Amino acid sequence: MAYPAEKPDELSPKEAIEVHNQTLDNYLRDIDFESMSPEEILTWTTTALNAERIVLSTSFQYSGVAMVHMVSELGLKVRIATVDTLRLHPETLEFIGVLEARYGLEIEVHTPDPEQIASMVERFGEYLFFDNKAKQEYCCQVRKTRPHDELLKTADCWISGLRRDQSTLRGETPKAVAVPENGTRRRLLKLNPLADWSLERLLSYTEEKEIPKHPLYARGYPGFGCKICSTPTLPGEDQRAGRWRWFNDDDHLREEDMKECGLHIPMYNI
Ligand code: SF4
Repeated sequence: MAYPAEKPDELSPKEAIEVHNQTLDNYLRDIDFESMSPEEILTWTTTALNAERIVLSTSFQYSGVAMVHMVSELGLKVRIATVDTLRLHPETLEFIGVLEARYGLEIEVHTPDPEQIASMVERFGEYLFFDNKAKQEYCCQVRKTRPHDELLKTADCWISGLRRDQSTLRGETPKAVAVPENGTRRRLLKLNPLADWSLERLLSYTEEKEIPKHPLYARGYPGFGCKICSTPTLPGEDQRAGRWRWFNDDDHLREEDMKECGLHIPMYNI
C-alpha cells in the first residue's frame, strides 16, 4: 500500500492532512496488527512508511531496548530517539553510549526548551514536583512531554514500548492506534508492538538475546525517568510505586493509574 496515497505537493496543507489521516485509518481497517509479532509490525513499518518519519521512542526500559535489538537484528533503518529531561540518572546517559556502540547506531537525544525551564523554575522553584500533582505534571510537561511532542511533529509513526501488564491503565493498550498530534488535526500511527508481552516473556527474550540491560535494574529500579522522581521498589511493591514516591500516601493518588508523566495519558489514546 503506497504512502501517502497521493502526492502531498499537489494538495493544500489541509487536504494533505486529510489524506494522511485517511491513510492511517485504512491501515488500521485493513491490517490485523493484533495478530502480528513485534518483528512483523516493525518490519511492516519500513515497507509501508517513510523510514525518516518512523520514530522508536524509548527511555531504555527492557521493552524499548528489546525493540532496538529487533530493528538492529532485522536491519531496519527507523529512527531511535529519547528525551533527556536534563534530570536523568547519569547511568541512563552512559547507557545511551553502550547501546550506540553495541548496535552501531545513533540515538537522537531531544531536550527541553531552556526558556521554558527557566520560566518554570523562576515561578515555582527547581523542586516544584514535590508540592502537588499539578506541579509535577507541569514539570513533566516542560521537561518531557513538550520535547516529545516536538519530536513527534517530525514523525508519522511513533513506536512505543507500552505493555498491557504494566498497569491497569495500560491494560487495554492496542498494538496500533491513531493518536492526535498535539495541537493539530494531523494524527500519528502509534504502534505498541510488545503490548501483549508479559514481563516474564520480555525478560526471557532479553536474556536469550543477550540484550544490554540498563544498569539501574540491578539496583532495584523497576523503571527510571528523572533521578529524584524514580526510586527502587521493595519486593511486592507495584512496578510503578517507585515513581513520585512521595505521592503514594495521598488518598487521592493511590491508584497506580495516576503514575503517568503525560506521554501515554488518555489524550494519546494510550
Ligand atoms: S519526572 Fe520529576 S523531574 Fe522529571 S520531569 Fe517529571 S516531575 Fe520533573
